[in-house]
Amino acid sequence: MTSRSLSRIIPSIPVSDGAGVKLRRSLGQSQGLRLDPFLMLDEFASDNPDDYIAGFPPHPHRGFETVTYMLAGEFEHRDHLGNTGHLRGGGAQWMTAGRGIIHSEMPLQEQGRLHGFQFWINLPASEKMKPASYRDIEPEDIPERKIAGGRVRVIAGAFDTGDGAALPGPIQGLSTAPLFLDLRLEAGARVSQQLPAGHNAFLYPYAGSLSVISGDGAQPLPTRQAGVLSDGERVELEAGPDGCGVLLLSARPLGEPVVQYGPFVMNTREEIEQALDDYRAGTLA
Ligand code: FE
Repeated sequence: MTSRSLSRIIPSIPVSDGAGVKLRRSLGQSQGLRLDPFLMLDEFASDNPDDYIAGFPPHPHRGFETVTYMLAGEFEHRDHLGNTGHLRGGGAQWMTAGRGIIHSEMPLQEQGRLHGFQFWINLPASEKMKPASYRDIEPEDIPERKIAGGRVRVIAGAFDTGDGAALPGPIQGLSTAPLFLDLRLEAGARVSQQLPAGHNAFLYPYAGSLSVISGDGAQPLPTRQAGVLSDGERVELEAGPDGCGVLLLSARPLGEPVVQYGPFVMNTREEIEQALDDYRAGTLA
């Protein structure tokens, strides 16, 4: 079985989004820096309310899914469907924008630490115009398991426990078959995880650092850099001298044209123009 190596590193860069939230963006910082079907990965991590208090007032999306995962702090989601969601440390939200959603994402705190992630994952052409939906995933609904040298939390797909069993997360059955793990490892701990051949995959260490172990040797991946993996059947990681906290994501690539204009991600320019027309006319969602 081929162990995947690091094929590309995309360092995160500071950006500002929403009404002035300070973020670090790796995937998606430019249109060439995507990993089909992943469009973007943002990390927000700050103890300073000035960095997050403005939040993300009402804004639209069409054509893809947004996934938010919180390590610390609280956010409130509200959308045009009348949903109110409360995101807290350890929890997640999986939102399918589909044909359109208008939502706000606002911090529920005026001080203290806010740390979390949002990634965007594309929908196939056949699902871009399906009705919007969203799901709050409470911290206690994310399975967490002790493993040798650390622990794993499974948000989507399943962790390969190594004994022939699998630990499934709450998100299953999507056409891109995403895997989304949060791994915390002690210094020098090793983890091996099966990944379907042909699925694109990347790592994002948000604390500490790690090395990817493969036939190419041990390739280091520093904190806050997205490490894109080559193809293969598994990935083997070794935590650095300070241990690590790392997100591991994989999904089936769509292989379709991507035309993005801000919060709209479609297959053609005409579909983007339609989204803009619909938004202006109040018929996006
Ligand atoms: Fe949004």
